[in-house]
Amino acid sequence: MSVNVDALKCIGCMACEMVCGYHRDDAFALLSSSILLYRAREKKDYFGLVIKAEDALVVARPEGLEVNKIGVAEPESDSGPKKEADASAKPMLLREACDLCDGMKYGPMCVKICPVDAISVAEGGE
Ligand code: SF4
Ligand code: SF4
Repeated sequence: MSVNVDALKCIGCMACEMVCGYHRDDAFALLSSSILLYRAREKKDYFGLVIKAEDALVVARPEGLEVNKIGVAEPESDSGPKKEADASAKPMLLREACDLCDGMKYGPMCVKICPVDAISVAEGGE
């Protein structure tokens, strides 16, 4: 099982990020969160989320889902040299992977708190 995000529903409130930090540290510690909101400066109301999974960084954007396996290099392309899939996401890589809020009484906290039901638990996946 894994958390699944529908970025088209996201309103950028950051509640998921705060509650995940709370699950980790019993405080609103954003740097401990396994889920991270990002906003695109060039686009208004454009939100995406990055989730640290056990072996991948899952990026949920309005355009769709992208799974970047940690430590796996992308194939060489005509546009440039090989690059590590995780090269631009080092701080996120240092965080604990989502454990679906193991041990929390009410289950996955981000799913419970999202005001627009943008997060759900999916069977299988990353
Ligand atoms: S399910 Fe729990 S550990 Fe996983 S991202 Fe959501 S709040 Fe964080
Ligand atoms: S709680 Fe829901 S609406 Fe708020 S940032 Fe997270 S996914 Fe987006």
